Amino acid sequence: MSGKTTHEPHETTAARSRKAGTDAPGGAPDAADAVLELAGASKEYGTETAVSDLSLSVRDGELLTLLGPSGCGKTTTLRLIAGLETPGAGTITLDGERVADDTHSVDPENRDVGIVFQDFALFPHMTVAENIAFGLTDADASQKDERVAELLDLVGLESFGERTPDQLSGGQRQRVALARALAPEPDLLLLDEPFSNLDVRLRVRMREEVRRILDAAGVTAVSVTHDQEEALSISDRVAVLNDGRLEQVGRPEVVFEQPESRFVAEFLGRAGFLSGHVDETGVHTGIGSFETARMQGLTDDYAGTDIDVLVRPDDLRAKPVESEAGDGRVVHRQYTGSSFVYRVELDTGDVIHCEHNHTTDIHLDQRVAVAFVADHTLAWYPGE
Ligand code: ATP
Repeated sequence: MSGKTTHEPHETTAARSRKAGTDAPGGAPDAADAVLELAGASKEYGTETAVSDLSLSVRDGELLTLLGPSGCGKTTTLRLIAGLETPGAGTITLDGERVADDTHSVDPENRDVGIVFQDFALFPHMTVAENIAFGLTDADASQKDERVAELLDLVGLESFGERTPDQLSGGQRQRVALARALAPEPDLLLLDEPFSNLDVRLRVRMREEVRRILDAAGVTAVSVTHDQEEALSISDRVAVLNDGRLEQVGRPEVVFEQPESRFVAEFLGRAGFLSGHVDETGVHTGIGSFETARMQGLTDDYAGTDIDVLVRPDDLRAKPVESEAGDGRVVHRQYTGSSFVYRVELDTGDVIHCEHNHTTDIHLDQRVAVAFVADHTLAWYPGE
């Protein structure tokens, strides 16, 4: 780490484009803007491929989250970026400098990267102020004091500098870990499952707080999580990994609303698929017909073929009907407190979910008509 001591929060490119709403669809960064670039990065452990041919750019000032199920390669990717692992193939470039390829790898301490570990990893025998000052190796005493005061102010812990980590709550420890990692003004901040050690309520509060701190610091960051809600709520872009490979990268609303694969559709929230037949008049499914124009990118070329249309619980409502009328029957009901989610098996064999207000009580086995109540376009996949 460089141990720089000046600190001028600035409005980043990503922050500017967020405000201006000028983000390109999918949020692909300009190459000139990239702080981090992975090109074809791969890592194998024996016969196990942890990361496979991963290409990804992270632009100045953005928070990109690596999202995927357990074992998909998120932590390995973070360790490759940090320099804790060496790629077997491919390259990693940080702020224009090639820091790793198959012939060399710059040591972690010589990369301008800050890391917030899952367990925060604070030094227990040091005060909060000493923890924060730890990476400021090139600064003199007064520069350190000034920078520590700035950081304490940034993370809202002005009066906690003399405490030790055991005198802090979980949320406060996380703030200190963040301040310590930000102190030397790294080119890139890595966050490893940053909220997994916090209880559920604190987690939601700290998401907002961490996002505020990252924006105020103007830092570029890569975070790792398997929690899709967390990824969607805090990130500028989300990269979905599956089995070591990148499935899709884009702005949260793009990966959620336009998932490019069934895997992404199913990993980001509850997905149902309506089998549909396409003809000149539209797409015909077990809950009715849709205009072709409602399907994302569906062309006349698909007339005569079968497709599967992605629907989510909030797109659909079930209405009880008499005897054998309707589209299917309720096979499961889940009460979540704020809502009821009904699983409906359609007469076509498709299984979908309908989300209702918690006061809408439909009993098991009830025949229902299912209505599509959304007005957005729909993702679809060629029939299997
Ligand atoms: P989790 O969410 O459970 O932490 P992850 O997405 O971070 O998972 P990784 O820890 O990157 O996944 O692991 C990716 C794959 O590489 C897994 O199959 C894992 O078993 C394997 N792996 C990771 N580290 C090693 C290692 N040091 N030696 C052997 N295999 C490893």
